Amino acid sequence: MLVGIDIGATSLDIALLRPDLGIIARHAQEADVEAGPGPIMARLRSLLPAMLAQNGIAPDRVLAVGIGVPGPVNFAAGQLVNPPLMPGWDSYAIREDLREITDAPIFVDNDVNLMALGVLWRQRKQIENFLVIKVGTGIGCGIVCHGELYRGSTGSAGDIGHICADVAGPLCRCGNRGCVEAMAAAPAIVAMGLEAAQSGRSPALAERLAAKGLLDAADIGAASRAGDAEADAIVRRSGRLIGQVLAALVNFYNPSHIFIGGGVSAIGPMFLAAIRQSVSQRSLALSTRHLEITSAPLGPETGLIGAGVLAMREALRSGGPA
Ligand SMILES: [Zn+2]
Repeated sequence: MLVGIDIGATSLDIALLRPDLGIIARHAQEADVEAGPGPIMARLRSLLPAMLAQNGIAPDRVLAVGIGVPGPVNFAAGQLVNPPLMPGWDSYAIREDLREITDAPIFVDNDVNLMALGVLWRQRKQIENFLVIKVGTGIGCGIVCHGELYRGSTGSAGDIGHICADVAGPLCRCGNRGCVEAMAAAPAIVAMGLEAAQSGRSPALAERLAAKGLLDAADIGAASRAGDAEADAIVRRSGRLIGQVLAALVNFYNPSHIFIGGGVSAIGPMFLAAIRQSVSQRSLALSTRHLEITSAPLGPETGLIGAGVLAMREALRSGGPA
């Protein structure tokens, strides 16, 4: 029995998984990583034992735990390093925090790396060089090279959210200007949607704002799919900017596939279409000849399955109880 935990910027997802990575039980709830590790870790310490008990699983049957977090991770230490989306978590000892509820080995990695492991497992080694992009509150990239996850020399490989898309762009939470994350991820989409609603340019978004009191990225996606021109322009702009950065990655890395996942990827077909168009316009012909850009194959469960893959692989590698 494996435990997969996916801590997102705004969500907490826990799964109990069989060794073949089938999901036995799953719990998802909203969470806010900006509030610091205290509330989320306390939630985990009460939820996980309760899930095990509900499913009749003794705690000592847990072989390993895999945890994904939305920031740069020192993989060997299992700690976040200066995560822009979760400032209170810098160097926080996640593994030690969970020691009181399980003796099983615990492995922590960046959430997008776990998505890449999930896709790698799903593809059964049929493709060896690919990228997995997560677009949510932030933007990140998991890199698979010759059939192995590539973490780089210090573990920060694929942190593409802070690549500059426009030097004169808005200020990013990292302190620089015009990072693709600050211009195209969920908060930017919502800010543009609010502006379109409040200025009266988008009657559909104004109506949604009046009804709900707020907007989220899914609202802008729904308005776009319903034919609202302003919402459609916001979705396309986000896709175009992300595609612009991906074109550089394609020229540099020559992947055979790019899988797009994360909450914003479900915003509508126009998002993926704009990414594809931007990549094909800006990349070398040879690098795009057989390139496929599609949605991540396991949908919203990609990260959870990947957390299970991480737990299984690392427990086997370290000679743990698995
Ligand atoms: Zn930035």
